[in-house]
Amino acid sequence: MQGLLDNVRLADLADILIITILIYWLINQIRGTRAVQMLIGLLMVGALFSASQYFELYTLSWILNNFLSSILLVIVILFQNDIRRALTRVGRGTLFGGDRQRRNEMIEEVARAAVLLATKRVGAIIALEREVGLNEYLEAGTRLDARVSRELLVSIFLPTSPIHDGAVVIRRGRITAAGCFLPLTTSQVVSRSLGSRHRAAIGLTEETDAAVIVVSEEEGQISLVREGRITRDMDAGSLRTTLAQLALP
Ligand code: ATP
Ligand code: MG
Repeated sequence: MQGLLDNVRLADLADILIITILIYWLINQIRGTRAVQMLIGLLMVGALFSASQYFELYTLSWILNNFLSSILLVIVILFQNDIRRALTRVGRGTLFGGDRQRRNEMIEEVARAAVLLATKRVGAIIALEREVGLNEYLEAGTRLDARVSRELLVSIFLPTSPIHDGAVVIRRGRITAAGCFLPLTTSQVVSRSLGSRHRAAIGLTEETDAAVIVVSEEEGQISLVREGRITRDMDAGSLRTTLAQLALP
């Protein structure tokens, strides 16, 4: 044991620590995103390759071997957007824990948009992704990848917009999609006066840890929904403080 430890240099410990942090960071980055499915796909190709070698399926193994030997290239092509985003964040020095200023700006824009929409009596539903990925709810929607701005949020929900029907999903400070269909709550205790927009907000927060902001077109009021519970009649100030308290990514 003593002899074993003698060979461990400080540099080795640093090495292991850095790799651990990098893997942790990587998992955090790709959790709940399309990258996970692609990684699973790649792992399955790898498993198929091992199987083809084990069972001596030479042609299959040759093809997969060639494919896997260019795996680095494949990864770079598949993940080019994610790699670009990650490197930009490294450059901005916001590698860990997200960017507080960016988050505050996002909250400000969302709160302002909600107030604007409420005064215009335009209905809206905005889901903020947290730990649990909302990928499965994006299917029916229209993919976007846009900076969050009050102008864009208002334009999306104006009744003349082709994507006003359904929810906007915000992931890590970007508008990821609009026109998304969220699961309606089946809870019996939800007030009968709440329509499908509010029920969808409650439903999503029962299934995930997302926070959802709803602007009622009928009443012109703003609600915040979390963990299946709805807080009605929020104003810009209370919305801002409550959103700031959430650990948003
Ligand atoms: P409001 O107070 O604004 O009228 P509401 O809770 O009464 O809201 P509805 O009047 O039924 O709800 O809302 C209709 C709109 O809500 C739809 O046009 C659609 O844009 C949105 N909506 C309804 N169901 C969903 C859903 N499952 N996911 C996302 N958006 C939905
Ligand atoms: Mg209604």
